[in-house]
Amino acid sequence: MKKLLLILAILSGITCYGLQAHAASIVSTGHQKYNYKEYLSDLAALQKKYPDYLQYKVIGSSADGRKLHDVVVGNPDAKKHLIVIANLHAREYITTQLTMAQIEYICKNYKKKINKKKVSSTLDKVAIHFIPSADPDGTAISQYGFGAIRSKSWRNKMKRTGASSTTWKANARGVDLNRNWPISWAAGGSRGAMGYRGPSAASEPEVKAIIKDVNKIQKKGKIIGLISYHSMGCILYGRCASQATSSVRSKTTRMYQLAQKLTGYRLMPTESISSAKGCSREYFLYKRHIPCITLEVGSSASPVPISQFPSIWRKNKDIPIREAQILS
Ligand SMILES: [Zn+2]
Repeated sequence: MKKLLLILAILSGITCYGLQAHAASIVSTGHQKYNYKEYLSDLAALQKKYPDYLQYKVIGSSADGRKLHDVVVGNPDAKKHLIVIANLHAREYITTQLTMAQIEYICKNYKKKINKKKVSSTLDKVAIHFIPSADPDGTAISQYGFGAIRSKSWRNKMKRTGASSTTWKANARGVDLNRNWPISWAAGGSRGAMGYRGPSAASEPEVKAIIKDVNKIQKKGKIIGLISYHSMGCILYGRCASQATSSVRSKTTRMYQLAQKLTGYRLMPTESISSAKGCSREYFLYKRHIPCITLEVGSSASPVPISQFPSIWRKNKDIPIREAQILS
């Protein structure tokens, strides 16, 4: 069937790239609601297809009992590690689809070259860890409504917030997972769609699981960088406040300059540590001394319509491997 499609594509004179990519792909990027079930089955299918380059493990469970994963592409025992986190905000679930497609793209091209460099030689030196879905509960709310919350008491509490489920950003307990990190954390907001920092710093199981995973990775080697995917705005956070070490600053600068070149996204001013108030990027930069950039994909309101995926893909497909190349 694949061969037939390819021949048809060539015969009809259209570029075969689209057909080839589609016919051979596990991760579907053509529909709006890339959901938890599909994500789980794609993870299993990717590992089955690429057992030599890809491994994944459960790093914890979300507040409402969904699994969180670290997917390692490349050599898990490498001395250097790059981390990519997506979907810390529920309605930004297009970033799960994007990172899952990036995982597949790297595996597919493992024996080839990207940017004239062998993918395999970069991945011998650097393990790329993807956490493709950091807020699976919130994603289920954004995709299917509050009925998707398994816990009856949290389901009722979240319904009572009166917020829209579609534009929900928080987890199943109404905590904003990008405001719950242990850096200049202070109480703020109330349980709901967005902005609530939680009852205490790192109170949420999703944040705890990622911190624990980062600790484990750090024991294995050096974390050379972290890429955080959000949506929307076609913007980029890469500047550092004066408190960053010179090494973190220079590496973060290299990371954002490359990301800017590939995506064309607009660079935003930095936050000071004191105004970070629980934000993840500042936590990684100043508490963990990890070079870190944030990319906001898509040009219209979240959930970003899937019609924008081709443009997001063109700009972002090479980001993880190219960042690994410059940092390795
Ligand atoms: Zn976000």
